Amino acid sequence: MRVYYSDIFKEHQVASGHPESPRRLDYALDGVLQGGITPTRPNMREDVLDVLERVHERSYINYIKDLCNVGALTELDGDTWVSPKTCDAAILAVAAMLDAIDSGEHAYILARPPGHHAGKAGRALTAPTQGFCIFNTAASGAIYAEGVAVVDIDVHHGNGTQEILYDRDILYVSTHQDPLTLYPGTGFPDEVGRGRGEGYNVNVPMPPGLGDDGFKKILDEVVVPILRQYGPRRIIVSLGWDAHRDDPLADMGLTLAGYEYALRALASLNVPLVVLLEGGYNYDVIKRGSKMVVELLTGQDAKAPEESSESDHYAWGKLNKTLEDIRRIHSKFWAL
Ligand SMILES: [Zn+2]
Repeated sequence: MRVYYSDIFKEHQVASGHPESPRRLDYALDGVLQGGITPTRPNMREDVLDVLERVHERSYINYIKDLCNVGALTELDGDTWVSPKTCDAAILAVAAMLDAIDSGEHAYILARPPGHHAGKAGRALTAPTQGFCIFNTAASGAIYAEGVAVVDIDVHHGNGTQEILYDRDILYVSTHQDPLTLYPGTGFPDEVGRGRGEGYNVNVPMPPGLGDDGFKKILDEVVVPILRQYGPRRIIVSLGWDAHRDDPLADMGLTLAGYEYALRALASLNVPLVVLLEGGYNYDVIKRGSKMVVELLTGQDAKAPEESSESDHYAWGKLNKTLEDIRRIHSKFWAL
């Protein structure tokens, strides 16, 4: 297994008090070291800009580069900031992704800024902002190599990844908090993809208050069955720790036991997992979660340091209704 990290990822700056702070990586790094792995520094690659131009419009890439050249911290929108080193960081994250895909090993990429809200030209679909994201690292990996699936378990819908992959036959499965209750406001089950991409976009909105029991049900009944039928050669995991019950930005009830279950379920497909850090704003959860990722993917006898949580009654009922909707909508594409 490889862990990718560079200090450059900490040099992407945001306004003071912003939840997506460079310190997140200190905690992630601590966890990784406790898990027994020393990270590798990713190298810049010549093909990164070519891949980026297949993911984002050239005018958007140039716009971001111009903002990096302003020489000061700049507010791109109400949530998202660009600093002089943002371009170096965001581009190196994509380089790490491509290297991880090529390596054929499990990987954990500790990078910032996150990427899954970045669409073709920046702000994706109907979102009010870019949600801290600059370039879409997960979508870059999916477009770079054949046979990749993206599984997004950040608590927010990966609207940028969906937008970029929407008319391609690349599987994108996202579990996220109900978009009626949380940014970015998209990610409903009837968003299934378009043209060649029809059926390859799978959204599972989760009611606030859902616990590990509900998350496991989603993995067992939707995520893993569809992945098995799709048969990926690599799985990119857009991993946000913000579905944890202690996260300050969202309202889900998961614990690290739920994340452990998800990682084990994905690893059971016996293909390399490229785990990419997206969101997650509780430092302690980031640290303990990162340790767990390393332990699980290096085959250590990891046990999540938390007891499984249970859904509240309302959330459990709502989840069952959502799963019915997903079966009805997706049964023409997948055996569910
Ligand atoms: Zn998130």
